[in-house]
Amino acid sequence: MTDLTTFRTETRAWLEENCPQAMRNLSFHWEDAHLIYSTEAAEVWRERMAGKGWIAPMWPTAYGGGGLSREEAIVLSQEMGRIKATAASSGMGLTMIGPTLLEYGTEDQKLRHLPSITDGTIRWCQGYSEPGAGSDLAALQARAVIEGDQFIINGQKIWTSGAQYADWMFALVRTDPSAAKHEGISFVLLDMHQAGVTVKPIGLISGSSPFCETFLDNATAHRADLIGELNKGWTIGKRLLQFERSGIGGLSGAANKKKAVKTNPLVDIAKRYVGDQDGKIGNSEYREKILKHSMTERAFQLTTSRVVQENQNGQTPGATTSIFKLVGSTLARDGAALKSELMGAQGLGWEGEGFEAKEIETSRGWLNSRAVTIYGGTNEVQMNIIGKRVLGLPD
Ligand SMILES: Cc1cc2nc3c(=O)[nH]c(=O)nc-3n(C[C@H](O)[C@H](O)[C@H](O)COP(=O)(O)OP(=O)(O)OC[C@H]3O[C@@H](n4cnc5c(N)ncnc54)[C@H](O)[C@@H]3O)c2cc1C
Repeated sequence: MTDLTTFRTETRAWLEENCPQAMRNLSFHWEDAHLIYSTEAAEVWRERMAGKGWIAPMWPTAYGGGGLSREEAIVLSQEMGRIKATAASSGMGLTMIGPTLLEYGTEDQKLRHLPSITDGTIRWCQGYSEPGAGSDLAALQARAVIEGDQFIINGQKIWTSGAQYADWMFALVRTDPSAAKHEGISFVLLDMHQAGVTVKPIGLISGSSPFCETFLDNATAHRADLIGELNKGWTIGKRLLQFERSGIGGLSGAANKKKAVKTNPLVDIAKRYVGDQDGKIGNSEYREKILKHSMTERAFQLTTSRVVQENQNGQTPGATTSIFKLVGSTLARDGAALKSELMGAQGLGWEGEGFEAKEIETSRGWLNSRAVTIYGGTNEVQMNIIGKRVLGLPD
């Protein structure tokens, strides 16, 4: 047996024994993730996985990671997929600020912040957008002034996902208002549990509230929590966006999605709602739409896998990440719309006895999919980045 085969056998046995049944086969909407992660089973699962370092399998063991090689991490992910295990922890700590700290943090910052991400106990939120700074993020105005060993921060952030549940925020703040727009910005970390931070959830038509307005009134951040140099936060802020876009664009976790999916859920849905004609979808227009979407999806999947495999050092790509964000989010949006369309009026249900749970979930998924081409930077912004930074077109 090769080392990797032994690793697979042992991992499979460990997962079978340690992953609670209640954490398998779960299907939930990301807006409801906090409910899933507040159960007793989730807590048991989190503790067990943290004990192995498998919440962040490839991060160094010094920070509570698993220290696995890329090949081992792929095996772990495949074995979790085999039993449909839900991730033991998720969120912006693991996907955004953690990788950024690994690249830009000092040893002290890594030791103070990474272990509470790898054990899944601290939740993070992203303080980037402001009422006057979204696509034009460098227009941000939240002002931070140094006083002794602290930054005193005043301003407003908006669309702060999960701020109402977060313990810490990573934020871009203006530390030199006289400098050019992209300069004079610093990247800081601040504790959300302080008097100077007020969080107001923004209600959605769904009744839930995935994001918030966050007011900073003399909020403080320790100078020791300045990441990188003072006034040089833009570069770090952009790198973090590449980690975010890499996740949205399907680059993370792409290496283990090599196999073609044998059954296509869209075909099953079409047969049920549009009609089954001797084993075929009973409408040529929908046959064509599903074929086109599925082929693009498969080609995209193979491309993400190839890019991840070719990228031997495991680094998240730079500006090319925008291509994956653009294509991945467009596919997700179009796939959700097609699924809803195939269901006809049943795919527009909101509540009530006339709709099955799956149909209501489809409506929510369709509405939610409208956001994926916006957060992490809109499609138009990704096209600008691709034009300028990938294709080298003039500004
Ligand atoms: C579900 C969701 C979660 C989010 N979570 C967070 C979060 O946790 N933290 C956070 O900081 N932010 C978050 N955001 C905010 C998100 O990053 C912004 O919405 C996004 O960057 C767009 O900014 P905006 O909403 O101000 O739109 P605007 O920048 O006002 O854009 C409006 C429209 O104009 C277009 N446009 C703007 N500039 C250009 C240009 N130069 N060229 C071509 N077209 C252009 C845009 O593409 C868009 O269609 C979230 C957003 C959503 C939808």
